[in-house]
Amino acid sequence: MAYLSTEKVEHHFFDVVIIGSGGAGMRCALQLADAGHRVAVLTKVLPTRSHTVAAQGGINAALGNVLSDHWLWHMYDTVKGSDYLGDQDAIEYLCRAAPLVVRELEHQGVPFSRIENGRIYQRPFGGQSRELGEGGQAARTCAAADRTGHAILHTLYQQNLRAGTHFCQEYFALELVTNEDGCHGVMAWDIARGSYHFFQAKAVILATGGAGRLFRTTTNAHICTGDGAALALDAGLPVEDMEFFQFHPTGIAHVGPLITEGVRGEGGYLINSEGERFMERYAPTAKDLASRDVVSRAIAQEIREGRGCGPDKDYVLLKLDHLGRELIMSRLPNIHELAWRFAHVDCTKEPIPVQPTAHYTMGGVPTNRFGEVVRPCGETMEEPFPGLYAIGEAACVSVHGANRLGGNSLLEIIVFGRACGNRVLGFLKEHPYHASVDKGCWQAGVDRVERWLSRARGRQGDIPRLRKAMQQTMQEHFSVYRTESPMREGLQNLKSLASALDDAVIADGGRVFNTELVEAMELENLMKLALVTAAGALARTESRGAHARDDYPERDDKHWLKHTLAWIREGVVELDYKPVRLEPLSVPSFPPKRRVY
Ligand SMILES: Cc1cc2nc3c(=O)[nH]c(=O)nc-3n(C[C@H](O)[C@H](O)[C@H](O)COP(=O)(O)OP(=O)(O)OC[C@H]3O[C@@H](n4cnc5c(N)ncnc54)[C@H](O)[C@@H]3O)c2cc1C
Repeated sequence: MAYLSTEKVEHHFFDVVIIGSGGAGMRCALQLADAGHRVAVLTKVLPTRSHTVAAQGGINAALGNVLSDHWLWHMYDTVKGSDYLGDQDAIEYLCRAAPLVVRELEHQGVPFSRIENGRIYQRPFGGQSRELGEGGQAARTCAAADRTGHAILHTLYQQNLRAGTHFCQEYFALELVTNEDGCHGVMAWDIARGSYHFFQAKAVILATGGAGRLFRTTTNAHICTGDGAALALDAGLPVEDMEFFQFHPTGIAHVGPLITEGVRGEGGYLINSEGERFMERYAPTAKDLASRDVVSRAIAQEIREGRGCGPDKDYVLLKLDHLGRELIMSRLPNIHELAWRFAHVDCTKEPIPVQPTAHYTMGGVPTNRFGEVVRPCGETMEEPFPGLYAIGEAACVSVHGANRLGGNSLLEIIVFGRACGNRVLGFLKEHPYHASVDKGCWQAGVDRVERWLSRARGRQGDIPRLRKAMQQTMQEHFSVYRTESPMREGLQNLKSLASALDDAVIADGGRVFNTELVEAMELENLMKLALVTAAGALARTESRGAHARDDYPERDDKHWLKHTLAWIREGVVELDYKPVRLEPLSVPSFPPKRRVY
């Protein structure tokens, strides 16, 4: 491989560039490619390795195949689940579109599981109710066994190949190219060849997924490093509600892989060291199917009070053997395999050790319900930044508010992937030509890589050590329960780790497939998000959804029914706030009330 000079930047023109080939990026790309546009999808891994592939339990839609259902009940549950921080216009849009997009996925080829009459199988999931909470548990989650994400991602990939979408795999997005008129493209690094590429486009879409790798124990893949939110911060744009991070109640203890909520939907339940079904005490009605923040706090509380299991009393048990081998092997085959592989447990015979595990990034790049990235400007708190869009877990629409319901994220990526595609179609009609860009507008991207390569030392690099320290700090100081003084200490730790990262070195100065270089840039991204998460959490003196403070145990709608916005300016985090959109599109608002399950 010849050495590539730093000046050599390949320049590509596309109508649209989408960063990310998860479900959100793929669904959006399909909308645009089918309309005849030239679409490039950049992904830092092979397209079907995106984290969507790992989604297990299913996707929500009020189809009513198993129990009666209505989109309004779905909307009510989602607003309540969000602890009233979700934007109700976006939530209405999400829930009304759900049956349509799920049927569309079926027609595109997703092999959903079936019930006897041939319709799509639906299982109960956490936080689901009928008749606006009055009619008992709903069964709203459409599943392809316990491999729903796999089924959806592969189907969408195949559809995109048919539609002629251009995939650039193992390309790492380095910087957005923006000026006062908006976003005009992205600088990327070809990981396999070690070369620079400037993708100039009329519209750029961030679909980069979540940031679970902020924490030590997480269900998220190694690639979930919040790159899209960091790209937005670098471009001077804010991120929203980053202090709301979901801990899934049932990650496999100590290692993290997810045991889907579908296990409890099928009839599994949690027990403590005394064999007690403790969720009955915390959520008398919904029990094990209360929403995730509630179940995670209950487990943490059992552990705090000494009723955890194992030598360190630091986990509880998820019992499902009573469901029978046949049901487990047909509806939950992947869970059987994961439990065996990661906990050496045969779950048809014994319970699985589980504990709350970092799972989902409720915050992200602020958008409206069309996927347009918005920022506060002049009179309005939500002015679109032209040419830039965000969808999926990278975005904050915000349909999940302070706590996401299981099964609503696969739904979000499909609904808003599609909606954003439609919005961009309109934008392309008004903007038929590429904007002119400044000469050398790609320099910041080149500098980002060259800075690391020029400091390669051939000795052990600093990245693994700093990453571990950052993840440990987040885990210990910003976990299920939060308190002022540990958080202050955590924020100080993060600041010194961030400045250590400024001077850090890597060992390998090679250009071809330099995974250490990629990890260094991912850590730069994570570090920024850790800082804004910590600052937002410290400032929010209330408990809401996933943000539970020991020192402020109550929700405080008077002062805190608002979204956090965070910027990093010259290395310093700045916070501001904007109102929650409480008005839905066509139905009366669901006003905040006490949240019980
Ligand atoms: C184990 C697990 C199980 C889950 N189960 C469910 C479930 O049953 N139901 C549900 O609703 N939700 C579930 N979720 C959540 C849901 O799967 C995700 O929120 C959703 O799939 C995210 O999709 P996405 O398209 O936004 O991003 P992802 O699928 O994470 O894709 C991100 C893409 O961005 C690319 N990318 C990132 N950074 C860069 C960069 N710098 N340069 C280039 N490319 C980049 C990646 O290569 C990837 O292609 C689960 C999550 C996990 C972790």
